[in-house]
Amino acid sequence: MTETTGQTEYGAVQTDSIYLDYNATAPVRPEVVQLVATVMGTVGNASSVHASGRLARKRVEDARAHVAALVGAHSDNVIFTSGGTEADNLALSGFGDRRLVVSAVEHGAVLAPALLSAADTAVVPVDAAGLIDLAALERVLAEEGRPATVSIMLANNETGAIEPVRAVVDLARRHGALVHTDAVQAAGKIPLDIEDLEVDFLSLSAHKLGGPQGVGALVLREDREVRAQVVGGGQERGRRSGTENVAGIAGFGEAARLALDGLSHYAGLAALRDDIERRTGEIAPARHVYAAEVPRLPNTSCLSMPGVKSETQVMMFDLAGIAISAGSACSSGKVSASHVLDAMAVPEDEALTAVRVSLGWASTAADADRFVETWADIYRRCGQHAVDAA
Ligand code: PLP
Repeated sequence: MTETTGQTEYGAVQTDSIYLDYNATAPVRPEVVQLVATVMGTVGNASSVHASGRLARKRVEDARAHVAALVGAHSDNVIFTSGGTEADNLALSGFGDRRLVVSAVEHGAVLAPALLSAADTAVVPVDAAGLIDLAALERVLAEEGRPATVSIMLANNETGAIEPVRAVVDLARRHGALVHTDAVQAAGKIPLDIEDLEVDFLSLSAHKLGGPQGVGALVLREDREVRAQVVGGGQERGRRSGTENVAGIAGFGEAARLALDGLSHYAGLAALRDDIERRTGEIAPARHVYAAEVPRLPNTSCLSMPGVKSETQVMMFDLAGIAISAGSACSSGKVSASHVLDAMAVPEDEALTAVRVSLGWASTAADADRFVETWADIYRRCGQHAVDAA
């Protein structure tokens, strides 16, 4: 997508810029902006019984139906939260006595509550492609002790690798464990059905699929329940109190509806992504694409540029008007290698040259071309061969 914004209250935004950081946050769909503005301009607390309240309630319930449809769930089983982070925390904190078992490549929204939890937590290693080591998982689940909750992401935010969630569920069932999946990155990018996956809980975030930031959901399967972490007024059937963010929730619903309609468009992004990977490989055969050998999200590429630090690349791309990310945007600003690439046993000096490019609903072939041209330019100026020649 090419932006045409100029000077803003917050400073200059380069005109003609290209946004390739959808895994950090996706541009909000115009239909969503419109709906959110309309809902914000209409008074109403979804718990009030008068007409304004009933309209707000309808907005929330319509949105709930769209979000449920995106993941093949029943509307009653969608709990709106303040985002993916809260949904992950609710899933992991909602079961007092269970042991927690998480993969080493989970997002911080899973890893942090798991590691802070009073329950003894096991972190299961992954292979070189970032997929969970099922044999190691089985060993952990077979250990004596309390039943476990396993949390395994559906797709990785940095590499796009799609985890074998069904196989994890099969193992977990044999050991009486529940399974949560963080589907924040997968939702809206690949087809997704909670009944097919057979996971007990699934987390979503609106802003990764063209909705507003600060709203998400934890989706339960069948009759599963969680223990509320935010208590008070009893909203969301007592599972998550607090006056509903009606405008945000309505925007989430609209984004979910559009994402479901747009799944085939997302599948088509794999061609652009593959083109980027092929052409950068021709320019620098030593560049590495992480998790390329396993099923991945169609929009995500995590690739190294030999000899050029990630932060340098991000800065130079930014100067050229292209937004990308060094590893996980949620941890950008830190210079240490990503915990995901580290868990995949990528050598640190190589991991420090990796960036993430993530395409989305408004990306075009022209965006991919400009990315490759800029990549070639940066590599020519600063890459390994420039270092060798100096
Ligand atoms: N889980 C994953 C895999 C993510 O990529 C993110 C955000 O980057 C989150 C959870 C957190 O979601 P939110 O930003 O809505 O809190």
